[in-house]
Amino acid sequence: MAPTTAADWSPSSWRSKPIVQDVVYPPEPEQVEPADPVAWKRKQGLDQVVEKLEKLPPLVSAVEIERLKANLANVSKGEAFLLQGGDCAELFDYCSSEKIEHRLSLLLSMSLILIWGMKLPVVRIARMGGQYAKPRSKQTEVVDGVELPSFRGHNVNGLDPNDRLPDPERLLSAYFHSAATVNHVRSLLASGFASLPSSREEDVAWSLPLSHVRSPQLLSAYEDIVYNLSQAMEFMSVIGVDRSGGSKGGLHGALESADIFMSHEALMLEYESALTRKLPIPAFARTEGGDKEGYYCTSAHFVWIGDRTRALTGAHVEFFRGLRNPIGIKVGPSMDPEELVRLLGIVDPNKEPGRVTLISRYGAELVEKLLPAHIEAVQKSGHPVIFCSDPMHGNTRSAAGGVKTRAMHDIVSEISASLRIHASLGSKLNGIHLELTGDITPEGHSVTECTGGSMELAEEELGLRFESYCDPRLNFEQSLDVAFMLSQAGGR
Ligand code: PEP
Ligand code: MN
Repeated sequence: MAPTTAADWSPSSWRSKPIVQDVVYPPEPEQVEPADPVAWKRKQGLDQVVEKLEKLPPLVSAVEIERLKANLANVSKGEAFLLQGGDCAELFDYCSSEKIEHRLSLLLSMSLILIWGMKLPVVRIARMGGQYAKPRSKQTEVVDGVELPSFRGHNVNGLDPNDRLPDPERLLSAYFHSAATVNHVRSLLASGFASLPSSREEDVAWSLPLSHVRSPQLLSAYEDIVYNLSQAMEFMSVIGVDRSGGSKGGLHGALESADIFMSHEALMLEYESALTRKLPIPAFARTEGGDKEGYYCTSAHFVWIGDRTRALTGAHVEFFRGLRNPIGIKVGPSMDPEELVRLLGIVDPNKEPGRVTLISRYGAELVEKLLPAHIEAVQKSGHPVIFCSDPMHGNTRSAAGGVKTRAMHDIVSEISASLRIHASLGSKLNGIHLELTGDITPEGHSVTECTGGSMELAEEELGLRFESYCDPRLNFEQSLDVAFMLSQAGGR
């Protein structure tokens, strides 16, 4: 059946469905003292902001979105691997050249290690350029003994205790920060940020800092990988594998001009639907007898539904089902296998390769129990999904002193179990979704938010540079550990 937009769907059909994690621009009119001009301004402000967003240009194009979907179709067939990563909550302040470059560098370094180890192209998607809204389990949080509305991400409110009232103007600011971020990523990539060095005279022997690795055995294993990788890159450079004009396919094509796509959780439907546009479907993505135009959410190439907002009859699923974008669905422990198949039936009725990425996040303790039934139910349903593991969100713990952290051994354990379970069921783990940051302090230190890894970060060290305002992220070294680990597993 040729994919067509459902007749009963529109970019605003979600408005008639129950919504969770909604942002209430307070106070609600009925709670407002008639004389409260600030509240009235806020309420009216949302409509004005949406009207303005509807007029602003798309942040990404239909061609780019369909190109990502085609790349993800390869991932779903096991012919490429998906690397998705970035901050839990992106702040407007992260829109600086330095921070954007740190994030891109880390994703690119990881992808080189993965390409080399897995012998597969890597599709890179950043959690960036719009990851500004957070679902929260509690409406309020206590900061310095004072109960405040929870920080919901820069789309909604500020970190400052005096700035916790949701403000609709922030959605406009989100758009412009996304635009500046996407623009910088585009200009970096177009200027060769991701390219291989072009000749022997340049720094062909690509290297990665490994001085943090504490265990001698691990250090030697990592050095082997880096050595082999740099040899492979030098070889390609020496034989002059095409840099201009020849085939862009294969390993070199995957390395030379890296595509990096943008993604975020599409939580705030007012924002997302204002940026959803009916656009011509590029010729390469059209199917015979199918639509010539389709709806694209142009706030990012890839958007996902969070674990808390994936109710079958809810507003978020309603919104997502009409989009042509590739989408993610977070799959947590409360997902019943039958419910998962029904959800796929709603958002992927045409069983389109590349359309859905299932991002599972059970936790190291539950993965063995829950993943097999999900894989088997999906296999039986025939939906050609991408199976991606998020080993972060089921492994959040409180360290002594109450700080939220994650341990590398839990993260590695959930990934290893996922690889093993997929292999035992004739399936394949197609991708990895991580919260990470390549940020370093001016003194050259990485953040200290997760414990363990090759640097053996101790719980007592978490306080040194814990910089996340939301969930704890892997630092540069720990992120590379995950890439080395997957590379050694060889994608099996
Ligand atoms: C997240 O990815 O930051 C998140 C909130 O995840 P989940 O919806 O899986 O809890
Ligand atoms: Mn998170």
